[in-house]
Amino acid sequence: RIILGIETSCDDSCASVVSADRTILSSIVTKQDHSSTGGIHPLSAALGHHAALPSTIATAITQANITHSDIDAIAVTQGPGMASSLGVGLSAAKTLSAVLHKPLIYVHHMQAHALTPLLTEGKPPKFPFLVLLVSGGHTMLVLARSVTEFRILATTTDDSIGDAFDKVARDLGIPWTSAPGAALEALARKSEGREKAVVFPIPCKGQAIFSYSGLKAAVQRHIEASGGAGMDDVLKAQIAAAFQRAACAQLEDKLGMALRPSHVTEDSRRRVYPRIGLPDGVSGDDIKTLVCSGGVASNAFIRSQLRKHLDELGRNDVDLQFPPLSLCTDNAAMIAWVGHLIWSQRTDDYTRHARPKWSMEDIPL
Ligand code: ATP
Ligand code: FE
Repeated sequence: RIILGIETSCDDSCASVVSADRTILSSIVTKQDHSSTGGIHPLSAALGHHAALPSTIATAITQANITHSDIDAIAVTQGPGMASSLGVGLSAAKTLSAVLHKPLIYVHHMQAHALTPLLTEGKPPKFPFLVLLVSGGHTMLVLARSVTEFRILATTTDDSIGDAFDKVARDLGIPWTSAPGAALEALARKSEGREKAVVFPIPCKGQAIFSYSGLKAAVQRHIEASGGAGMDDVLKAQIAAAFQRAACAQLEDKLGMALRPSHVTEDSRRRVYPRIGLPDGVSGDDIKTLVCSGGVASNAFIRSQLRKHLDELGRNDVDLQFPPLSLCTDNAAMIAWVGHLIWSQRTDDYTRHARPKWSMEDIPL
Protein backbone atom coordinates (compact mmCIF):
# COMPACT_ATOMS: atom_id res chain seq x y z
CA ARG A 1 0.00 0.00 0.00
CA ILE A 2 1.28 3.47 -0.91
CA ILE A 3 0.11 6.78 0.59
CA LEU A 4 0.77 10.32 -0.61
CA GLY A 5 1.00 12.74 2.34
CA ILE A 6 0.37 16.48 2.12
CA GLU A 7 1.21 18.94 4.91
CA THR A 8 0.70 22.73 4.90
CA SER A 9 -0.18 23.62 8.51
CA CYS A 10 2.37 26.40 8.89
CA ASP A 11 4.72 27.78 6.24
CA ASP A 12 6.47 24.69 4.82
CA SER A 13 4.86 23.11 1.75
CA CYS A 14 5.42 19.37 2.21
CA ALA A 15 4.59 16.26 0.18
CA SER A 16 5.80 12.71 0.70
CA VAL A 17 5.21 9.17 -0.51
CA VAL A 18 5.45 6.41 2.11
CA SER A 19 4.80 2.69 1.66
CA ALA A 20 3.26 0.35 4.25
CA ASP A 21 6.64 -1.29 4.98
CA ARG A 22 7.81 2.05 6.51
CA THR A 23 9.87 3.07 3.48
CA ILE A 24 9.92 6.82 2.80
CA LEU A 25 9.98 6.80 -1.01
CA SER A 26 10.23 10.60 -1.08
CA SER A 27 9.83 13.53 1.30
CA ILE A 28 9.92 17.03 -0.16
CA VAL A 29 9.85 20.18 1.99
CA THR A 30 9.69 23.57 0.25
CA LYS A 31 10.51 26.34 2.70
CA GLN A 32 9.36 29.94 2.48
CA ASP A 33 11.51 33.00 2.95
CA HIS A 34 10.07 35.42 5.51
CA SER A 35 13.27 37.39 6.07
CA SER A 36 11.73 40.65 4.83
CA THR A 37 9.04 40.61 7.53
CA GLY A 38 11.01 38.78 10.23
CA GLY A 39 8.12 36.41 10.89
CA ILE A 40 5.33 34.39 9.31
CA HIS A 41 2.19 36.24 8.19
CA PRO A 42 -0.83 34.05 7.43
CA LEU A 43 -1.63 35.59 4.05
CA SER A 44 1.92 35.41 2.75
CA ALA A 45 2.23 31.82 4.04
CA ALA A 46 -0.96 30.82 2.19
CA LEU A 47 0.19 32.52 -1.01
CA GLY A 48 3.50 30.70 -0.66
CA HIS A 49 1.67 27.36 -0.49
CA HIS A 50 -0.43 28.26 -3.52
CA ALA A 51 2.78 28.90 -5.44
CA ALA A 52 4.87 25.98 -4.16
CA LEU A 53 2.57 23.09 -3.30
CA PRO A 54 1.72 21.88 -6.85
CA SER A 55 5.34 21.37 -7.85
CA THR A 56 6.20 20.00 -4.38
CA ILE A 57 3.59 17.27 -4.85
CA ALA A 58 4.72 16.57 -8.42
CA THR A 59 8.35 16.26 -7.28
CA ALA A 60 7.39 13.89 -4.44
CA ILE A 61 5.64 11.58 -6.91
CA THR A 62 8.49 11.70 -9.45
CA GLN A 63 11.20 11.13 -6.82
CA ALA A 64 9.29 8.19 -5.38
CA ASN A 65 9.47 6.68 -8.84
CA ILE A 66 5.77 5.84 -8.90
CA THR A 67 2.85 6.84 -11.09
CA HIS A 68 -0.49 8.27 -9.97
CA SER A 69 -2.17 4.90 -10.22
CA ASP A 70 0.22 3.46 -7.59
CA ILE A 71 -1.20 5.81 -4.93
CA ASP A 72 -3.76 4.06 -2.70
CA ALA A 73 -4.84 7.06 -0.61
CA ILE A 74 -4.04 10.69 0.12
CA ALA A 75 -3.37 11.73 3.72
CA VAL A 76 -3.61 15.39 4.54
CA THR A 77 -3.19 17.60 7.61
CA GLN A 78 -6.60 18.88 8.72
CA GLY A 79 -5.26 20.84 11.71
CA PRO A 80 -4.19 22.34 14.00
CA GLY A 81 -2.39 25.23 12.30
CA MET A 82 -3.10 28.37 10.32
CA ALA A 83 -6.53 28.15 8.67
CA SER A 84 -5.47 29.75 5.41
CA SER A 85 -2.42 27.50 5.08
CA LEU A 86 -4.31 24.31 5.97
CA GLY A 87 -6.92 25.20 3.34
CA VAL A 88 -4.41 25.08 0.50
CA GLY A 89 -3.26 21.55 1.36
CA LEU A 90 -6.80 20.33 1.98
CA SER A 91 -8.02 21.66 -1.31
CA ALA A 92 -5.13 20.06 -3.22
CA ALA A 93 -5.69 16.74 -1.43
CA LYS A 94 -9.44 16.72 -2.08
CA THR A 95 -8.96 17.48 -5.77
CA LEU A 96 -6.34 14.75 -6.17
CA SER A 97 -8.57 12.33 -4.28
CA ALA A 98 -11.54 13.05 -6.53
CA VAL A 99 -9.56 12.98 -9.77
CA LEU A 100 -7.60 9.82 -8.95
CA HIS A 101 -10.58 8.07 -7.29
CA LYS A 102 -8.51 7.40 -4.17
CA PRO A 103 -9.75 7.88 -0.61
CA LEU A 104 -8.74 10.75 1.63
CA ILE A 105 -7.42 10.43 5.20
CA TYR A 106 -7.65 13.48 7.47
CA VAL A 107 -4.70 13.71 9.90
CA HIS A 108 -4.02 15.63 13.14
CA HIS A 109 -0.64 17.38 12.85
CA MET A 110 0.45 16.77 16.47
CA GLN A 111 -0.63 13.12 16.31
CA ALA A 112 1.79 12.87 13.39
CA HIS A 113 4.65 14.52 15.33
CA ALA A 114 3.94 12.18 18.25
CA LEU A 115 3.85 8.98 16.17
CA THR A 116 6.92 9.70 14.00
CA PRO A 117 9.07 7.13 15.90
CA LEU A 118 6.62 4.42 14.81
CA LEU A 119 7.90 5.20 11.30
CA THR A 120 11.59 5.74 12.03
CA GLU A 121 12.72 3.66 15.02
CA GLY A 122 14.28 0.22 14.69
CA LYS A 123 12.49 -0.62 17.93
CA PRO A 124 9.25 1.40 17.68
CA PRO A 125 7.72 2.45 21.03
CA LYS A 126 5.01 0.28 22.59
CA PHE A 127 1.81 1.84 23.94
CA PRO A 128 1.40 3.41 26.41
CA PHE A 129 4.35 5.78 26.02
CA LEU A 130 5.03 9.40 26.91
CA VAL A 131 5.53 12.11 24.34
CA LEU A 132 7.14 15.48 24.89
CA LEU A 133 5.95 17.66 22.01
CA VAL A 134 8.12 20.74 21.64
CA SER A 135 7.45 22.78 18.54
CA GLY A 136 6.62 26.18 17.12
CA GLY A 137 3.03 26.08 18.31
CA HIS A 138 3.01 23.58 21.18
CA THR A 139 4.70 22.53 24.41
CA MET A 140 2.96 19.46 25.75
CA LEU A 141 3.58 16.34 27.76
CA VAL A 142 1.21 13.72 26.41
CA LEU A 143 0.38 10.10 27.19
CA ALA A 144 -0.10 8.10 23.99
CA ARG A 145 -2.39 5.11 24.63
CA SER A 146 -3.01 4.09 21.01
CA VAL A 147 -2.57 5.68 17.58
CA THR A 148 -5.70 7.79 18.18
CA GLU A 149 -5.92 8.11 21.99
CA PHE A 150 -3.88 10.84 23.66
CA ARG A 151 -4.13 12.36 27.11
CA ILE A 152 -2.59 15.81 27.62
CA LEU A 153 -0.76 15.74 30.97
CA ALA A 154 0.67 19.25 30.80
CA THR A 155 0.50 22.04 28.26
CA THR A 156 1.63 25.65 28.08
CA THR A 157 -0.54 28.34 29.58
CA ASP A 158 0.91 31.00 27.27
CA ASP A 159 3.71 30.78 24.67
CA SER A 160 5.32 27.68 23.20
CA ILE A 161 8.97 26.82 23.72
CA GLY A 162 9.60 27.18 19.95
CA ASP A 163 8.10 30.66 19.95
CA ALA A 164 10.36 31.60 22.87
CA PHE A 165 13.43 30.36 20.92
CA ASP A 166 12.30 32.35 17.86
CA LYS A 167 11.69 35.62 19.73
CA VAL A 168 14.88 35.43 21.79
CA ALA A 169 16.83 34.73 18.58
CA ARG A 170 15.28 37.83 17.00
CA ASP A 171 16.06 40.02 20.03
CA LEU A 172 19.66 38.84 20.02
CA GLY A 173 19.91 40.18 16.47
CA ILE A 174 20.13 36.79 14.72
CA PRO A 175 18.96 37.31 11.12
CA TRP A 176 15.68 35.49 10.29
CA THR A 177 16.06 31.90 9.11
CA SER A 178 13.47 29.17 8.69
CA ALA A 179 14.60 27.73 12.07
CA PRO A 180 15.67 30.61 14.33
CA GLY A 181 15.93 28.13 17.22
CA ALA A 182 18.71 26.26 15.43
CA ALA A 183 20.63 29.53 14.94
CA LEU A 184 20.20 30.33 18.64
CA GLU A 185 21.53 26.88 19.55
CA ALA A 186 24.61 27.50 17.39
CA LEU A 187 25.17 30.87 19.09
CA ALA A 188 24.83 29.30 22.57
CA ARG A 189 27.64 26.89 21.70
CA LYS A 190 29.99 29.88 21.45
CA SER A 191 29.57 30.84 25.12
CA GLU A 192 33.11 29.55 25.76
CA GLY A 193 32.31 27.57 28.88
CA ARG A 194 31.01 30.68 30.59
CA GLU A 195 27.39 29.78 30.02
CA LYS A 196 26.63 29.99 33.73
CA ALA A 197 27.51 33.71 33.86
CA VAL A 198 23.81 34.49 33.38
CA VAL A 199 20.94 32.61 35.09
CA PHE A 200 17.22 32.85 34.38
CA PRO A 201 14.56 31.56 36.80
CA ILE A 202 12.46 28.45 36.13
CA PRO A 203 8.75 29.22 36.53
CA CYS A 204 5.94 26.85 37.57
CA LYS A 205 8.25 24.35 39.26
CA GLY A 206 6.25 21.40 40.53
CA GLN A 207 3.11 22.42 38.65
CA ALA A 208 1.61 20.42 35.79
CA ILE A 209 1.86 23.33 33.35
CA PHE A 210 4.44 24.90 31.07
CA SER A 211 4.91 28.64 30.71
CA TYR A 212 7.35 30.42 28.43
CA SER A 213 6.15 34.03 28.32
CA GLY A 214 7.82 34.94 31.63
CA LEU A 215 11.15 33.48 30.56
CA LYS A 216 10.86 35.24 27.20
CA ALA A 217 10.21 38.57 28.93
CA ALA A 218 13.04 38.06 31.45
CA VAL A 219 15.49 37.35 28.63
CA GLN A 220 14.24 40.32 26.63
CA ARG A 221 14.73 42.64 29.64
CA HIS A 222 18.22 41.24 30.15
CA ILE A 223 19.10 41.84 26.49
CA GLU A 224 17.85 45.43 26.65
CA ALA A 225 19.74 46.13 29.86
CA SER A 226 22.93 44.72 28.31
CA GLY A 227 22.87 46.99 25.28
CA GLY A 228 20.45 45.24 22.91
CA ALA A 229 21.38 43.46 19.71
CA GLY A 230 24.59 45.52 19.45
CA MET A 231 26.21 43.89 22.51
CA ASP A 232 29.42 41.87 22.45
CA ASP A 233 29.20 38.40 20.86
CA VAL A 234 30.42 36.47 23.90
CA LEU A 235 27.77 38.08 26.08
CA LYS A 236 25.12 37.28 23.46
CA ALA A 237 26.24 33.67 23.44
CA GLN A 238 26.05 33.53 27.24
CA ILE A 239 22.49 34.86 27.22
CA ALA A 240 21.54 32.38 24.49
CA ALA A 241 23.00 29.51 26.53
CA ALA A 242 21.32 30.65 29.74
CA PHE A 243 17.97 30.91 27.98
CA GLN A 244 18.37 27.45 26.45
CA ARG A 245 19.23 25.96 29.84
CA ALA A 246 16.23 27.56 31.54
CA ALA A 247 13.90 26.50 28.71
CA CYS A 248 15.13 22.92 29.02
CA ALA A 249 14.99 22.89 32.84
CA GLN A 250 11.24 23.38 32.60
CA LEU A 251 10.93 20.28 30.42
CA GLU A 252 13.05 18.33 32.92
CA ASP A 253 10.83 19.45 35.80
CA LYS A 254 7.66 17.98 34.20
CA LEU A 255 9.45 14.79 33.19
CA GLY A 256 10.51 14.34 36.81
CA MET A 257 6.90 14.78 37.92
CA ALA A 258 5.76 12.00 35.59
CA LEU A 259 8.70 9.59 35.56
CA ARG A 260 10.43 9.74 38.95
CA PRO A 261 10.26 6.16 40.33
CA SER A 262 7.19 5.89 42.57
CA HIS A 263 9.17 4.64 45.59
CA VAL A 264 11.08 7.93 45.63
CA THR A 265 8.57 10.19 47.36
CA GLU A 266 10.52 12.98 49.04
CA ASP A 267 13.75 14.91 48.77
CA SER A 268 16.55 15.09 51.36
CA ARG A 269 14.68 17.84 53.23
CA ARG A 270 11.56 15.65 53.45
CA ARG A 271 9.65 17.73 50.95
CA VAL A 272 7.21 15.61 49.00
CA TYR A 273 7.93 15.46 45.27
CA PRO A 274 5.00 16.78 43.24
CA ARG A 275 3.56 14.35 40.67
CA ILE A 276 1.70 14.53 37.40
CA GLY A 277 -1.30 12.22 37.68
CA LEU A 278 -1.55 9.52 35.01
CA PRO A 279 -4.93 8.05 34.08
CA ASP A 280 -6.23 4.98 35.92
CA GLY A 281 -4.31 1.82 35.27
CA VAL A 282 -1.12 3.57 34.10
CA SER A 283 1.87 4.03 36.40
CA GLY A 284 4.93 6.11 35.57
CA ASP A 285 7.07 3.08 36.47
CA ASP A 286 5.49 1.15 33.56
CA ILE A 287 6.37 3.78 30.97
CA LYS A 288 9.41 2.52 29.11
CA THR A 289 9.60 4.99 26.23
CA LEU A 290 9.73 8.76 26.07
CA VAL A 291 9.37 10.23 22.59
CA CYS A 292 10.56 13.81 22.12
CA SER A 293 9.31 15.27 18.87
CA GLY A 294 8.60 18.59 17.11
CA GLY A 295 11.03 21.19 15.77
CA VAL A 296 12.69 22.00 19.11
CA ALA A 297 13.54 18.28 19.50
CA SER A 298 16.28 18.91 16.90
CA ASN A 299 18.19 20.76 19.62
CA ALA A 300 21.35 18.82 20.57
CA PHE A 301 21.65 20.43 24.02
CA ILE A 302 18.06 19.49 24.87
CA ARG A 303 18.64 15.96 23.54
CA SER A 304 21.64 15.31 25.76
CA GLN A 305 20.20 17.13 28.75
CA LEU A 306 16.95 15.11 28.77
CA ARG A 307 18.88 11.83 28.62
CA LYS A 308 21.07 12.99 31.50
CA HIS A 309 18.02 13.98 33.50
CA LEU A 310 16.28 10.63 33.03
CA ASP A 311 19.42 8.89 34.27
CA GLU A 312 19.60 11.22 37.29
CA LEU A 313 15.99 10.38 38.08
CA GLY A 314 17.00 6.71 38.16
CA ARG A 315 15.12 5.97 34.95
CA ASN A 316 17.81 4.57 32.69
CA ASP A 317 15.21 1.91 31.81
CA VAL A 318 13.37 4.58 29.79
CA ASP A 319 14.28 4.60 26.11
CA LEU A 320 14.44 8.23 24.92
CA GLN A 321 13.60 8.43 21.22
CA PHE A 322 14.05 11.42 18.94
CA PRO A 323 13.05 11.38 15.28
CA PRO A 324 15.90 12.10 12.84
CA LEU A 325 16.42 15.86 12.37
CA SER A 326 14.63 16.01 9.01
CA LEU A 327 11.50 14.46 10.56
CA CYS A 328 11.47 16.61 13.75
CA THR A 329 10.39 19.74 11.90
CA ASP A 330 7.35 19.76 9.63
CA ASN A 331 7.26 17.13 6.89
CA ALA A 332 4.66 15.09 5.06
CA ALA A 333 6.24 11.67 5.67
CA MET A 334 4.80 11.72 9.20
CA ILE A 335 1.37 12.60 7.75
CA ALA A 336 1.51 9.79 5.20
CA TRP A 337 2.56 7.38 7.95
CA VAL A 338 -0.42 8.28 10.15
CA GLY A 339 -2.48 7.64 7.00
CA HIS A 340 -1.22 4.03 7.09
CA LEU A 341 -1.88 3.73 10.84
CA ILE A 342 -5.49 4.96 10.56
CA TRP A 343 -6.21 3.42 7.15
CA SER A 344 -9.69 2.41 8.37
CA GLN A 345 -10.63 6.11 8.62
CA ARG A 346 -10.27 6.67 4.87
CA THR A 347 -13.23 8.54 3.41
CA ASP A 348 -14.59 10.35 0.37
CA ASP A 349 -16.23 13.02 2.54
CA TYR A 350 -15.01 16.32 1.10
CA THR A 351 -17.16 18.49 3.39
CA ARG A 352 -14.62 18.46 6.21
CA HIS A 353 -12.74 21.71 6.63
CA ALA A 354 -9.56 22.91 8.31
CA ARG A 355 -9.53 22.66 12.11
CA PRO A 356 -7.09 25.43 13.13
CA LYS A 357 -7.64 24.66 16.83
CA TRP A 358 -8.01 20.94 17.44
CA SER A 359 -7.13 19.19 20.69
CA MET A 360 -5.16 15.94 20.61
CA GLU A 361 -7.76 14.56 23.02
CA ASP A 362 -10.40 14.99 20.35
CA ILE A 363 -9.10 12.72 17.57
CA PRO A 364 -11.70 10.30 16.12
CA LEU A 365 -11.06 6.75 17.37
P1 ATP B 1 3.41 22.99 15.46
O1 ATP B 1 4.01 21.67 15.10
O2 ATP B 1 3.23 23.16 16.93
O3 ATP B 1 2.20 23.30 14.66
P2 ATP B 1 5.42 24.12 13.79
O4 ATP B 1 5.02 23.05 12.87
O5 ATP B 1 5.54 25.52 13.29
O6 ATP B 1 4.47 24.12 15.07
P3 ATP B 1 7.86 22.73 13.98
O7 ATP B 1 8.19 22.77 12.52
O8 ATP B 1 7.57 21.41 14.57
O9 ATP B 1 6.77 23.76 14.45
O10 ATP B 1 9.06 23.42 14.76
C1 ATP B 1 9.49 24.72 14.45
C2 ATP B 1 10.15 25.30 15.69
O11 ATP B 1 11.30 24.54 16.02
C3 ATP B 1 10.60 26.73 15.48
O12 ATP B 1 10.22 27.47 16.62
C4 ATP B 1 12.12 26.58 15.39
O13 ATP B 1 12.84 27.73 15.79
C5 ATP B 1 12.35 25.43 16.34
N1 ATP B 1 13.65 24.78 16.14
C6 ATP B 1 14.14 24.17 15.03
N2 ATP B 1 15.40 23.71 15.24
C7 ATP B 1 15.70 24.03 16.53
C8 ATP B 1 16.83 23.83 17.38
N3 ATP B 1 17.93 23.21 16.93
N4 ATP B 1 16.77 24.30 18.64
C9 ATP B 1 15.67 24.90 19.12
N5 ATP B 1 14.58 25.13 18.38
C10 ATP B 1 14.59 24.70 17.11
FE1 FE C 1 4.83 20.99 13.37
